[in-house]
Amino acid sequence: MRKDFLPFSPPSIDDQEINEVVDTLREGWITTGPKVKRFEEEFASFIGSPAALAVSSGTGALHIALAALKIGPGDAVITTPMSFCSSVHVIEQVGARPILVDVEPDTLNIDPNKIEDVLKSAVRSPQSAIKGLLPVHLYGHPCDMKVIMDIAEKYHLKVIEDAAHALPAKYDGRLIGTIGDLTAFSFYSTKNITTAEGGMLTGKSELIEEARLWSLHGMDRDAWKRYSSEGSWYYEVIRPGFKYNMPDVAAAIGIQQLRKLTRFQTRRKEIVSGYNEAFSQLEELQIPCKRADVEHAWHLYVIRLNLERLKINRNQFIEELKARNIGTSVHFIPIHLHPYYRDKYDYKPDDFPIAYREYQCILSLPIYPKMTDQDVQDVIEAVVDVIMAHRK
Ligand SMILES: *Cc1c(COP(=O)(O)O)cnc(C)c1O
Repeated sequence: MRKDFLPFSPPSIDDQEINEVVDTLREGWITTGPKVKRFEEEFASFIGSPAALAVSSGTGALHIALAALKIGPGDAVITTPMSFCSSVHVIEQVGARPILVDVEPDTLNIDPNKIEDVLKSAVRSPQSAIKGLLPVHLYGHPCDMKVIMDIAEKYHLKVIEDAAHALPAKYDGRLIGTIGDLTAFSFYSTKNITTAEGGMLTGKSELIEEARLWSLHGMDRDAWKRYSSEGSWYYEVIRPGFKYNMPDVAAAIGIQQLRKLTRFQTRRKEIVSGYNEAFSQLEELQIPCKRADVEHAWHLYVIRLNLERLKINRNQFIEELKARNIGTSVHFIPIHLHPYYRDKYDYKPDDFPIAYREYQCILSLPIYPKMTDQDVQDVIEAVVDVIMAHRK
């Protein structure tokens, strides 16, 4: 058995990131400035998006996406119960109503057919104006974007993609970040690339400039140009904006991480192959789904336990792995089970039966570029060992 604990998802930081941060600190300009500009340009160019806006978190990116698209009180946004809480929080935060739609059993992404069911019944009995769709590319597997974009066009909806897991992911040959109206990425420390904390919004230039206003106090930077004779102190506030700008210190990490992204993904795929090969014959679990028309970002490697063949439940399985020095996690506790949403909307667990059922058997195994072949082998051995000890 493994002697030291294998953490679930540490960042992959080396001298390049450290030196870039030190360089930023020595130059003396530490908050939003030249490095953020460079990071935005390089990110937009990598994705193939007309523009990008760096912000202080993925959550902030989602929040200002809704604000920039003028989604607010009286509006509703359709999203998934199978996500991190913040993708639904932002809908509440702009004063709109989240409408949850259950997921597909294979990808666990929002089910486009069920979106259409909700829209059809909303036409018959409108409660609030449904203005947007907020699909989440869960684990890095893209949602069915063709169907989602068709629905959006038919019902005149804005599409805000939560791509916190989906860098770099492709749907039908197109990188995620180039499809919906606005796409939000996260650079939280566990994500495919990190800036410690940070996020990025991609989309058309005009929308990104609107989002930029919302990201920094609603201050119009054009005012600096228009009123240049007034000197550098003058600005105009034209939106009640937030404070979500990314500092150069964070962008410094991001610039170096972005350069490694392709290499990181190669390593992630190697780990996936190792896991798939080891686990695909086991009757006690199911390996992650990957559809033919997508490039998976493999942010998470989520197995599903076949509980009927095991004497222990998922939580006990996690404890057994921990006892074997393997860190794991669960992504996610469905939104409708959390007391805030459960109580506010009177949700019952079976309101979203697939999300609820699958929640009880999902388990995320470690996957990150710094994992060694031995680490991967240790995880495989531990999983197989737990199954052998507790299968029926
Ligand atoms: C990480 C994450 C976010 C939030 O990103 P932060 O940068 O932590 O604010 C949003 N949605 C999903 C699905 C995430 O995993």
